[in-house]
Amino acid sequence: MSRSDLHEMGVAELAAAIADKSTSAVEAAQHLLARARAHASLGAYLAFNEEATLAQARAADARIAAGERGPLLGVPLAHKDIFVTRDFPTTAGSKMLEGYRSPFDATVVAKLAEAGTVTLGKLNCDEFAMGGSNENSAYGVARNPWDTARVPGGSSGGSAVAVAARLAPAVTGTDTGGSIRQPASFCNVTGIKPTYGRCSRYGMVAFASSLDQAGPMARSAADCAALLSVMAGPDIDRDSTSLDHPAEDYTRLLGQPREGARAERPLQGLRIGLPREFFGAGVAADVQGPVRAALAELEKLGATLVDISLPRTELAIPVYYIIAPAEASSNLSRYDGVKFGHRAAQYDDLIDMYKKSRSEGFGPEVQRRIMIGTYVLSHGYYDAYYLKAQQIRRLIAQDFQQAFTQCDLIAGPAAPTVAWKIGDKSDDPVANYLADIFTLPASLAGLPGMSVPAGFGDSGLPVGLQLIGNYFQEAALLQTAHAFQQATDWHTKSPEGF
Ligand code: GLN
Repeated sequence: MSRSDLHEMGVAELAAAIADKSTSAVEAAQHLLARARAHASLGAYLAFNEEATLAQARAADARIAAGERGPLLGVPLAHKDIFVTRDFPTTAGSKMLEGYRSPFDATVVAKLAEAGTVTLGKLNCDEFAMGGSNENSAYGVARNPWDTARVPGGSSGGSAVAVAARLAPAVTGTDTGGSIRQPASFCNVTGIKPTYGRCSRYGMVAFASSLDQAGPMARSAADCAALLSVMAGPDIDRDSTSLDHPAEDYTRLLGQPREGARAERPLQGLRIGLPREFFGAGVAADVQGPVRAALAELEKLGATLVDISLPRTELAIPVYYIIAPAEASSNLSRYDGVKFGHRAAQYDDLIDMYKKSRSEGFGPEVQRRIMIGTYVLSHGYYDAYYLKAQQIRRLIAQDFQQAFTQCDLIAGPAAPTVAWKIGDKSDDPVANYLADIFTLPASLAGLPGMSVPAGFGDSGLPVGLQLIGNYFQEAALLQTAHAFQQATDWHTKSPEGF
């Protein structure tokens, strides 16, 4: 038996096909590995280990043969190369970690493996997750399958490409300031960044620890819910910022109308806040259009749209680009060429070894952020920059709490434009930073957010609708996105040729 349509299936369908033995975990893994190799020019994957993949697949098939069933049992997926993995190298998209092999699996990876998923490989990303286009990867760009001359977004660019080009039914990503939501938006993928602390950061290569958060990316909200139910949960012993909040079944509200609502208007009673600042002149017309149409669809499903304001939206950019580099400069001090990572071949003394190892190992954007971070933390500047940024961060979080007195969820675009051409912004770091305007606020506040495929812009490029919830409102976000996906088919569209 051999099936050539396995890459067409989402997580739930594949799990069902594997469970009823119309295919096997081994067959599914082999099929997707072959596809990933055939589409290597997309730059989605950084590493494979076929032997390890097939061993995991055989183990899943054995569990099925023994009568076990589970929503992810035997399902192939791939991990952003920022999660450490025992069976695959981990580079975080950096030369600094070239050839690095972790002695353990990240908690998120281990939890998904326990649930019976099969790891296909590791996915390309911006170096240390710093970027929004995947062009900062030391291992080459990843290409947007909707137009291979364009970026897939970032930093989880390879993750979004793998799902969009049907090289994996689902993947993991991380989001520090938008890195799940923005590439999901650029590639017509559904992705959710949970509440800060909801998924363990243990084994996630650190960028900005007060912001970093893991999450799933897949074709549908339902598939994301299945993954997140496994990924989330406390890990207090290993991650001190992991939240002591019991694991949840995020699929529980899917397909159910909201309390008191009828099946035809499942979102009856849901108040969706539209921040004025998310719909201004800075948003491209071909993004506004699909987002507005998606909101009209949500209204048809019973939701009420309310105008709100998040007055400090613009400040999210300077605040984030002080706090994130500050934390990055501290986190990245561990790469000194001594304990692990790249070490220069030739040097004069210890200081020279540090200098050469770090100059050779880190790419230009990472070096830029280390410099900014070190500067804003230095004596005499700390109060003016870092402390001020922390104060405004608090106000941004308060603005959201104010908004949530008027609405249950917040909606807007995930990004101000569709995917841009590779190279278009690469000489201009500030242009890249500005493109993060709509994802940074929720990150700074630690709120859950997602991007849901909402249609296409001028050149047939995907547009994502962002939904933001209050703390721990992941189930409500997924329920809303699922209701939208039951009524529309944007999320089922794949790029031509894939
Ligand atoms: N684009 C943002 C940055 O460059 C966000 C990255 C992320 O979320 N990892 O920092």
